[in-house]
Amino acid sequence: MSPLPQKSVSIVGAGVAGLRAASYILQHAPTCRVSIFEANDRVGGRVYTYEKDGWRVDMGANWIHGMEGNPITPIARETGAIFAALEDAAVYPHGLSVPLPRAESEKLFGRTWEVADNAIAYSKENSGRIGADESLFDFAKKDVEEDKDLSKEEKRWVCLLSEFFTNFSAEDVRRLSLKYYFLEEELPGERPYLASTYSPILEAIAKPSLDGGIVRLSTPITHVDASSSHSVTITTMEGTKEAFDAVIIAVPLGVLKKQMITITPSLPTRLQQAIDSLGFGVLEKIFLKFDSAWWLPKDKEKANPPSFHAFLPDPSKPLEPPNVLTLMLSLASLPTGTDIPALAFYIAADQAHYVSSLSDSDLDAWIHSYLRLLPNYSPTQKPTAILKTSWGSDTWSGGGSYTHINTGTKNAVEDIEVLGDGCVHGRMWFAGEHVGTWRGMGTVNGAYESGERAAKGMISALKLGLQTVNDVEDELS
Ligand SMILES: Cc1cc2nc3c(=O)[nH]c(=O)nc-3n(C[C@H](O)[C@H](O)[C@H](O)COP(=O)(O)OP(=O)(O)OC[C@H]3O[C@@H](n4cnc5c(N)ncnc54)[C@H](O)[C@@H]3O)c2cc1C
Repeated sequence: MSPLPQKSVSIVGAGVAGLRAASYILQHAPTCRVSIFEANDRVGGRVYTYEKDGWRVDMGANWIHGMEGNPITPIARETGAIFAALEDAAVYPHGLSVPLPRAESEKLFGRTWEVADNAIAYSKENSGRIGADESLFDFAKKDVEEDKDLSKEEKRWVCLLSEFFTNFSAEDVRRLSLKYYFLEEELPGERPYLASTYSPILEAIAKPSLDGGIVRLSTPITHVDASSSHSVTITTMEGTKEAFDAVIIAVPLGVLKKQMITITPSLPTRLQQAIDSLGFGVLEKIFLKFDSAWWLPKDKEKANPPSFHAFLPDPSKPLEPPNVLTLMLSLASLPTGTDIPALAFYIAADQAHYVSSLSDSDLDAWIHSYLRLLPNYSPTQKPTAILKTSWGSDTWSGGGSYTHINTGTKNAVEDIEVLGDGCVHGRMWFAGEHVGTWRGMGTVNGAYESGERAAKGMISALKLGLQTVNDVEDELS
């Protein structure tokens, strides 16, 4: 048996998708040479835990979207993750100085989750018949209007609360496609917040690549040339060229949309259409740290304070920033040992752009307009530190947070699938949260599965798992 010449493959992007593709190839095709090119000076991409100056918070992903059948669940368990169920909210209607009573807040927030579940079920059953321009918000209004168990006022509140899904999908509910809302369906099971952060999970996913010394940090790729029939050449920003047998492009959708990597020959028309058509929205977080969690009742355990605070806009005014639903999470509600005296605003879409554009003093005023509604507030309660994400202006995340389906989209299922089919020009695959995974779009688990799928496709196409000429001949016969 004579050995085949060693194959070499490249992966562009060391986020969860790229790292999983690498670990899969290292495990299943161990003689293959794998190189990962990462633009940033760290791995993980949109999984990023900030661990400095007393902070330990996830700037990107922090929830597991359904524990059952989720490839992240076993990794989380093995790495000793601490989970928290943070789903309840105190609801603050506009003009009231206190939140609604706990039971009423829970009823409204629970009904808001039902709107999303109903929309998913409805869009799954009726997708073919739903107009491309119908939005999640159109559905929410109708769903709530028909509910005989809600008073007129409650209907209005649930409608306003349905803007919660603006944060969930990183796009305004009025621009989220109802026709394809079922693509937002999560995996079954609990949906926990990772109180212990994503950091240990990322470490586990990155370990094979980091131990193998195959990651080249701070090395952006600007061009991929797959025009040769026997290799694919990638070019770094510094102009260095290197040829490989194949490439997995695991960069964010935003990077592809902006054509920050040029590809020759041009991508097939349908694939380019898919890249153009999928939506890529923004979710930002603003963390405020205090000396103590002054907004909590004295006996936190007994009082079981809410995790979310949901501030409703003024319905008599146009629903545009700053007059939109604003969500704040109390990190002091996390399990003991992971709790920090901090609050986190979650702001998305137009509100994210609005808040990002504020001067420091206007941001301070905006923050205090919500803080003053919390229990025990006094104007002397100043944050000791503020930490802001800036995904919307982050070059290597493509200026966004994750993928969604916009109103007007005509064939989102095919868009997602065509990206996952891979093998463009016979040597190129795509991976990432935007690629080829139902019930995974926009999530860490989706990114992970897409990386594995691309790696499998590449191994099979290049016969990388087969290490000798005889193996290949057996396979072909
Ligand atoms: C604020 C926020 C909150 C989120 N919350 C959740 C959540 O709670 N749960 C959940 O499951 N998901 C969540 N997500 C989504 C989740 O983080 C992503 O879906 C997932 O991490 C994407 O992984 P990826 O590998 O596809 O892309 P990325 O993580 O973006 O990795 C792509 C990599 O490519 C690199 N790159 C880009 N351009 C180049 C180039 N030209 N050359 C070389 N390298 C390049 C980037 O630097 C990056 O490291 C959230 C995301 C954000 C931003």
